[in-house]
Amino acid sequence: MKYDSIIIGGGVAGLSCAIRCAEAGLKTAVIAAGQSALHFSSGSIDLLSRLPDGELVTHPFAAFDALQQQAPQHPYSKLGQVPVTTALNWYQHMMSDCGVELTAQPEAMNHLRLTPMGTFRATWLSQQTVHQYPMYSPQQGLSRIALVTLDGFRDFQPELTADNLSKLPQFSEVEIKTAAVELPDFEIMQRNPCEFRSIDISRVLRDERKLHAFAKSMIQKVGKADLVVLPSVFGNGDGAATIKLLEGLTGFTICELPTMPPSLLGIRLEEAMKSRFKSLGGLLLSGDEVQKGEFENGRLTKIYTRNHRDMPLVADHYLLATGSFFSHGMQAQRNSVREPIFDLDLADIAHRDHWYQEAFFSEQAHPFMKMGVKTSNQLRPTLKGEEIQNLYCAGALLAHYDPVTEGCGSGVAISTGHFVAEQMIAAHNAQPMASTQKQERTFA
Ligand SMILES: Cc1cc2nc3c(=O)[nH]c(=O)nc-3n(C[C@H](O)[C@H](O)[C@H](O)COP(=O)(O)OP(=O)(O)OC[C@H]3O[C@@H](n4cnc5c(N)ncnc54)[C@H](O)[C@@H]3O)c2cc1C
Repeated sequence: MKYDSIIIGGGVAGLSCAIRCAEAGLKTAVIAAGQSALHFSSGSIDLLSRLPDGELVTHPFAAFDALQQQAPQHPYSKLGQVPVTTALNWYQHMMSDCGVELTAQPEAMNHLRLTPMGTFRATWLSQQTVHQYPMYSPQQGLSRIALVTLDGFRDFQPELTADNLSKLPQFSEVEIKTAAVELPDFEIMQRNPCEFRSIDISRVLRDERKLHAFAKSMIQKVGKADLVVLPSVFGNGDGAATIKLLEGLTGFTICELPTMPPSLLGIRLEEAMKSRFKSLGGLLLSGDEVQKGEFENGRLTKIYTRNHRDMPLVADHYLLATGSFFSHGMQAQRNSVREPIFDLDLADIAHRDHWYQEAFFSEQAHPFMKMGVKTSNQLRPTLKGEEIQNLYCAGALLAHYDPVTEGCGSGVAISTGHFVAEQMIAAHNAQPMASTQKQERTFA
C-alpha cells in the first residue's frame, strides 16, 4: 500500500498533521495503536504558561523571545513564532468547521480554567462550554457559584473543589455551594458502578425526557447561582447543544469541568478530528500498531504493523507522533530509555538518579518529562547519527520541553504536527511526478 504521507500516532500531533496533509490533497494514512492523551486531558489547548526558569507567562506569544534565549532547543524555538501562530489559528478554524468552538481571551492573553481539585491552570483555548476565568481576577462577575454533581457519581467531588476554591483570597467574597442532582435511571445504572461513568451518563442525558427531569431536579437543588459548574457528562458530538438546551430549561449559566478519565471534553476533540480526517478521504487504521521499519540511504522505505506483518506500508514521507512514556512512544527500562519502533537517537539521558524529583509534587519539574527524540530544526530525527530525510517527529515524543510545568502540551503538538505537514506538502508539490498524479486524481 503506497501513500504520500503516513502518520504514526492518532493524538493531537498526528491528527493535526494528517488533516492538514489531507486538506492539501495528499493521500494520507494514520495508524493509531490506542487511545491518545486526549482521553485524559482537559480538552483545553495549553500554549505556554510558564518559562523554563519558572516565570509565569500571561501573554504566551510575547514570551517567545525569552523562551528562545532560555531554551533554544525547545520545539517552539525551532519553529519560530510565526509557524506556531499560523498553526494555532488554523486549528481553531478547522475545529470550528467541525462544530467545536475553541476561544481565547482578547489581547493574546491566557485564561484560567478550574480543575476538579478546585485549583486553576492557565491555558490558551477552551471549548465554548468551559468558563474562562480571567488571569488577574478569576472571580470577576461572580458572587454565587454552584458546584453540582450527579448523585452517586464518583468522578467529581464538588466538596473537595469547593473547599480548595474557597481558600483562594480572590474567592473570599464569593458564595460557593455544592449540590448533588438525581439522574433518571440512577437505580438501574448504579447496579454496576462501572456503568456510572461520564460516558454512560451522557447517553442518558441525550434522552430529552430525562434531560427535562434532570433540569427540574437541578432547579430545586441549586437555587440561585451566577454560574453552575457541572462535570463534563455531555456527549461527544452533541455536548454543547445539550448544555444549551439545559440552560434554556433551567435558566442557569452552565459550564463544564473535565472529570477523571474518560474525559469527554478531550474525547470530543479527538472524535471531531478523526471525523474531519475521514471526511477528507484519509485512511485511519485504528487499533493497529507500527512495529518496525526499514531504512535505505538515509530514508525510511517501509513500515510494518502488527496487522500487516507481511505487507509493508510505503510512503514518500512519514511522521512519528507516538507520544511520550504515557502512550508508549518512549519506553524506559531500569537504567535506559529508548524510542521503541526505530530506536531513534534521543537527547542526552542523565543517570537514572536524576530522572525525577524526590517529591512527586515538587515545585521543580521532573527531568524525565523533557526526555525524547532529538531532531533538527526541521524536526527530522537521526538514527545512529544519520539524519533521516523523509521521517519527522512531532508532539510529546520530542525532547527539550515539559508539557506539564511549562503548560504547552497541545500547543507544541498542534504546531509541530502542522509544521511537519507544511514540509510534506511543499515536498509533494515540488515533485513533477506527484503533481501529475495529483491532476489525475482531480480528474478521476
Ligand atoms: C494525562 C495527560 C493530560 C494532559 N492534559 C493536557 C491538557 O489538558 N491540555 C494540554 O494542552 N495538554 C495536556 N497534556 C499534554 C499532552 O502531552 C499533549 O496535549 C498532547 O495530547 C500530546 O499529543 P501527541 O499526539 O503528541 O501524543 P499522544 O496524545 O500521547 O498520542 C500518541 C498516539 O500514538 C499512538 N501510538 C503509540 N505507539 C504507537 C505505535 N507503535 N503504532 C501506532 N500508534 C502508536 C498512541 O496510541 C496514541 O494514539 C496532557 C498529557 C497527559 C499525559
